[in-house]
Amino acid sequence: MPSRFSLFVTVIVLSGCAEPTLESTVNIQMLNARVQALGDSLISPGDTCTRIHHLWRDQLRLSLSQAGRSSRQRRAAFIDSVYRPHRDFWDGYVGGEDEFTRRVARRWVDLEHDPRASIPVDVDVAGLIVETNRVAAALAGRSPRCADWYLIYGPGMANMGGLSSGEMLVDFFGFSDSEQDLRIYVPHEAAHVLYGGRRADPQDGTLLSSMLSEGFATYFSVLFHAGTVSPAGALGYSAQEWDWAVENERALWDIVKADLDSRDEDLIRRFRAAGERVRPDAPGKIGYFIGYRILESYVRRHGTESWADFFELPLRDILSRSGYPDAGSATGPMPGTPAGARVAQPAGTSCDIDDVRPCRDPVAIVCCALE
Ligand SMILES: [Zn+2]
Repeated sequence: MPSRFSLFVTVIVLSGCAEPTLESTVNIQMLNARVQALGDSLISPGDTCTRIHHLWRDQLRLSLSQAGRSSRQRRAAFIDSVYRPHRDFWDGYVGGEDEFTRRVARRWVDLEHDPRASIPVDVDVAGLIVETNRVAAALAGRSPRCADWYLIYGPGMANMGGLSSGEMLVDFFGFSDSEQDLRIYVPHEAAHVLYGGRRADPQDGTLLSSMLSEGFATYFSVLFHAGTVSPAGALGYSAQEWDWAVENERALWDIVKADLDSRDEDLIRRFRAAGERVRPDAPGKIGYFIGYRILESYVRRHGTESWADFFELPLRDILSRSGYPDAGSATGPMPGTPAGARVAQPAGTSCDIDDVRPCRDPVAIVCCALE
């Protein structure tokens, strides 16, 4: 069964099965003890709109209960207790029971001792997702959209993403290390949830649609973080990668512009995946970069709050009205902040009055100027 996973996928080398080691058993015992000590807050079900499924917790429990049993018995237990109750989700992400067995159940034995297994114990991921979705909806001035979020020890094909069915996932083995700050990534996914796709748009499923969706999510992430995360940071680019993309922007546009209407999945993947290069010297995810720059250009032309037009305007109109690439991109603080405005800000942070925008909703707890 083909995977319905719609975001970028990095092919990884998968390891074979192995018997549990003393080190891995000790690690999952320690993790489980910390979960017990932290209590129910760590496995919050979310709320009625942002529903959290802690499959990682089931995987942890299962590992403990199966310690000492054969690899075959453990895999069978994973199929019964982790895969089957959430078959649609796993089929959408990894592509069926056989793929689950190969990419998740077998591999987990090798990863029990992986430092990334501690991410959901170190961070209140459920609380972070629920709060980010609430603030994102307030920032956009829109009602929250409901979604199921699956928190898993998965195959690491992505750290976070969405399935075409609308289900969201956090795969702790998709992060490059255990120290990565999840707060940087959650607003990007919250933007995807708020946006919810554009099935009726003639461009739905095209390269342009993919680029604008990712560009918008990146743009929204920068807005959400209110100047504390740069566009390069929101894209996962180093400073050098960002500078290269800006210096070669016109050449990149020349590569992509003839294929904007294409629905070829391999071609779209070339512009989405972190591991793909549209030129040997280019960074990955060039589609994200160009999509972000189109949104920047649009806002520069149409005003500080015009980014929200993305929720309504046909995708081709977003591009044509952006003036991209000829209009260039905004590089300085967004215009339009009224002088002497009162500023709303999160507790424990400071806001630079020259670098805030008007609040779309005064309950938003990001830096913004109250009207
Ligand atoms: Zn995205």
